[in-house]
Amino acid sequence: MEDGTVTIGSAPTLQEWLDHWLYTIKQGSLKDSTLEGYEAKIAWLKDTRLARTKLNKLKPEHIETFYARKRAEGKAVASVLQLHRILNGAFKAAVKRGKLGSNPLLKVDAPSGRSDEAFEPPAFTPEDARKIIAHAETLPPSEATRWMMALTYGPRQGEVLGLGWDAVDLDNGQIDLRRTIYPKKWRHGCDDITHCPAKRPHLCPSRYGGGLFFGTPKSLAGRRSLPVPEQVLKHLKKLHAEHLALNEAEGKRRKPYTDANGVTVDLVFCQLNGRPHRPESDWKRWKALLEECGVDHVRLHDARHVSATMMLMLGVPRQVVGRISLVLNVGVVGSARPRCTSLGRFHEMASWGRSSLYSIR
Ligand SMILES: [Zn+2]
Repeated sequence: MEDGTVTIGSAPTLQEWLDHWLYTIKQGSLKDSTLEGYEAKIAWLKDTRLARTKLNKLKPEHIETFYARKRAEGKAVASVLQLHRILNGAFKAAVKRGKLGSNPLLKVDAPSGRSDEAFEPPAFTPEDARKIIAHAETLPPSEATRWMMALTYGPRQGEVLGLGWDAVDLDNGQIDLRRTIYPKKWRHGCDDITHCPAKRPHLCPSRYGGGLFFGTPKSLAGRRSLPVPEQVLKHLKKLHAEHLALNEAEGKRRKPYTDANGVTVDLVFCQLNGRPHRPESDWKRWKALLEECGVDHVRLHDARHVSATMMLMLGVPRQVVGRISLVLNVGVVGSARPRCTSLGRFHEMASWGRSSLYSIR
């Protein structure tokens, strides 16, 4: 783009088109205050993957995802709606000028609802999911299994990181996610904190009370064991074989982990020596994974909303997906927000997953 003109023949990116539309096509007809309002909304897109997307490659899901992210960041419905109207104007103009075949917003519902209403549609697009799954398949068993589990059961970080081999039935393909692992903060154990050589409690020479602990969240009481899809089970079996070999290895470096309360678990996801991964290092690995896949950083949390889609994309039979989704989605406490896990939502996801556009292989 030069001198505010979009080169004919090559599709502009969304950012290029918005600049062109706002400053070349639209500006003359806008009051200064309106222009500023438009600029402020368009600035939300700055340096985002959405803004770098070519206009003709934009899909309704990209825009829905962006709206969802803005809502999750706490933007009011009214503000997101303003952005929606601005984009709609820009897309209409793009269609009129032959830069765009059709307006992708025709397939996107305008943001609605009270501004304090929680809004949690999927933050991953099926395309993101496809990339993550394809990449996870190429990783060593410990990594492949970890991320396949995240994609299948939603993030449930503590439950996955707290999973022990005692809760895995490899023969029948069942797991029991009734245990969790959670971090507790270290406290100063010294007499006088002001004279402690450590500024932070976890560095205190006589620290106490911190570390990783096993627990059973009340919200999970009564949860049944869950089927493990064949696509995940094959990785889980490889990982188990790897652990058995490590246990037999000379020097026996790998040991079950015992927490400060004396609870011992032979962990499925652990460091080579059998000690648990800290939640934040798990997090870092997830971010690195997304980066390797070229997927925007999204909260691990967001994976939950598309786990049904992901399972269908993995080729997990619909019946199994239904069972896992229902068990996991019912009675999961721990967030004040309502779940987007109604059957309606599930079917919506299922129909997404079914689309051959997004098939993995
Ligand atoms: Zn201290």
